[in-house]
Amino acid sequence: MDKDVVDKDVVDKDTDKRTALVTGANRGIGKEIARQLAEAGLIVHIGSRDADDGQRAVDEIGANARLLVLDVTDGVAEAAEQIGRLDVLVNNAGIMTTGPDVEGFRRAYEVNVFGVVAVTEAFLPALRRSASPRIVNISSGLASLEWSSTRFPVDAASVAYRTSKAALNALTVLYAQALAGAGCKVNALGPGPRATAMNSFAGGDPAEAAEGAVRLALLPDDGPTGSFVAWDGTPIPW
Ligand code: NAP
Repeated sequence: MDKDVVDKDVVDKDTDKRTALVTGANRGIGKEIARQLAEAGLIVHIGSRDADDGQRAVDEIGANARLLVLDVTDGVAEAAEQIGRLDVLVNNAGIMTTGPDVEGFRRAYEVNVFGVVAVTEAFLPALRRSASPRIVNISSGLASLEWSSTRFPVDAASVAYRTSKAALNALTVLYAQALAGAGCKVNALGPGPRATAMNSFAGGDPAEAAEGAVRLALLPDDGPTGSFVAWDGTPIPW
């Protein structure tokens, strides 16, 4: 039996449980989302571009965690072949780039926008095998165009990141409409400032933000779709 077949068997033996994939789950908010989904009883695929980092998170989270080596910018289709059915996809992987130069824009969009499209498209067949698929896009309140005009003026250093998350919000609306017929809820979360590497470890507890993502991941069939909410469920203006 070749390795691909063995890997698929390992994944598929858990098909009686709900399954989730969290991208960038080796640290930060993503690891907390993965931990809470595993605690809720789902089999959680820990997306990590580095196998050792991912395995450390799998070992830490324990029984329901599975490693899925996944760089959202490379080889996504091959990774998706390892997953038979998926109930929850959390597009969490993201990067912050500095400066308004074109190269900074390209790097931010590569992960925060094109990576989300690549992952969503590649895992759609697995999501379509779910009775109630859910997609959660980890956005940012800094993406809000209304708040950019009022509360949080856009500065040059963060404009690549912020516009990439605004594009992610547009994708959220698009996918919510496109996948409504499949019963798939697609929502965006603004986690608020959290103490992670991205934020120089300034901010609140990432686990609190993860609670908001988990709520969207486990929405009932009459729950909202195409929404943009803060970690506590309050709406964020587009
Ligand atoms: P973080 O600790 O820097 O985590 C980012 C995660 O994304 C890491 O696991 C990282 O993996 C992964 N990643 C980056 N590029 C990737 C790629 N090409 N393929 C796969 N994974 C990749 O930051 P975080 O705060 O937890 O960020 C999680 C999400 O929350 C991001 O989308 C971020 O924009 C959003 N967010 C965060 C805050 C905040 O205050 N922290 C606020 C608003 C929104 P490596 O370890 O391999 O680099």
